[in-house]
Amino acid sequence: MTTNPYAWIDDALATIHRAGWYRSVQTIQGRAGAVVEMDGQRVINFASNDYLGLAGDDRLIQAAIAATQKYGTGSTGSRLVSGHRDIHQQLERAIAALKQTEDALVFSSGYLANLGTVSALVGKRDLILSDQYNHSSLVNGAILSGATVLKYAHCDAAELQQHLEQHRDRYRRCLLLTDSVFSMDGDLCPLPELLALAETFDAMLLVDEAHATGVLGGTGAGCVEHFGCTGSTLIQVGTLSKALGSLGGYVAGSATLIDYLRNRSAGWIYTTALSPADTAAALTAIAIAQQEPQRRTQLWQNVTALKQALTQKFVASPNVDLKLLPSESPILSLQVGSPAIALHLATALRQAGFFAPAIRPPTVPTSRLRLTLMATHDKTHIDPFITALSDNVTLI
Ligand SMILES: *Cc1c(COP(=O)(O)O)cnc(C)c1O
Repeated sequence: MTTNPYAWIDDALATIHRAGWYRSVQTIQGRAGAVVEMDGQRVINFASNDYLGLAGDDRLIQAAIAATQKYGTGSTGSRLVSGHRDIHQQLERAIAALKQTEDALVFSSGYLANLGTVSALVGKRDLILSDQYNHSSLVNGAILSGATVLKYAHCDAAELQQHLEQHRDRYRRCLLLTDSVFSMDGDLCPLPELLALAETFDAMLLVDEAHATGVLGGTGAGCVEHFGCTGSTLIQVGTLSKALGSLGGYVAGSATLIDYLRNRSAGWIYTTALSPADTAAALTAIAIAQQEPQRRTQLWQNVTALKQALTQKFVASPNVDLKLLPSESPILSLQVGSPAIALHLATALRQAGFFAPAIRPPTVPTSRLRLTLMATHDKTHIDPFITALSDNVTLI
């Protein structure tokens, strides 16, 4: 009798279906924006990471076209061999200038920047302390590094300190890992406390600014700027694919850190350089993010408006089982009682013309509608959303 070594995949999928965890892609037609087209229907988009509304901006598009015409579509090699172009260096200078660090390094994605950085900084003799809600790329970077990994309770600097007191001495290097804006809840890490602990315990600190870059801080430099910690010794990772509307990731920090990564980070060395189009689009986005602070002003006005409306309508109401999770970012999560309720709400809203996705375990511990705001949203997007949510919340 022959057995099929791939048969387990069907079983695994069946298990995923039974748990209500099955997921599939949804097609958006046409250009990115606050309003998009899905299945021929116009929908107001509360699911995008394009916080400043730049992914569909004509200036980024023109920059990508011009770079493609000048350099071609592919960068044709890794950065250390044949893939390096002057625009990569310009982009790295622009990131370092935004972050006010000595240097920066661009990776093919934010995910890869975390894998490539964490695994280059620590190894078997070292200790990683990681927030329990950290992004998958930090979690997997930690595993890849071979270091001992201990999690601490979400944003709990006291528990982190206990771990450091108990374990730090037995390891060579120590690396603290945290998202700066947590991607599923929208709350912020306690950065000043983490910096102080890193200094006391001779530990490195890596913060993932994926959802903060372009969004937080007066110049859009991120959470580090927001907390007044610009110039502190730490490692900042982030992405070019959220508020900056392009694709790619980066690390910003000291000149020696970046020089070391260029020589030791496998996730940077052994992969093809960022495409000319993505590089040029990101470079243009950084300039716009700095020259047009009104985008951030508008974004935060939208956040305040939606937060106030949600709080007044639902969260303050004893009859409604919706909880707005604490957030200090354009990510607003409405926690509901079960995966089924989250799906029901998302489906009903979608029929009413709103894209507000249900996020369920195993991505997050509790089911929720996760809403993200953009600078290009306005009252005509937010007010009807509140009405549609009211219409459907009475049904749960
Ligand atoms: C999106 C995200 C990443 C990955 O960035 P990509 O450029 O999309 O690969 C890393 N960390 C966090 C916290 C993120 O939200």
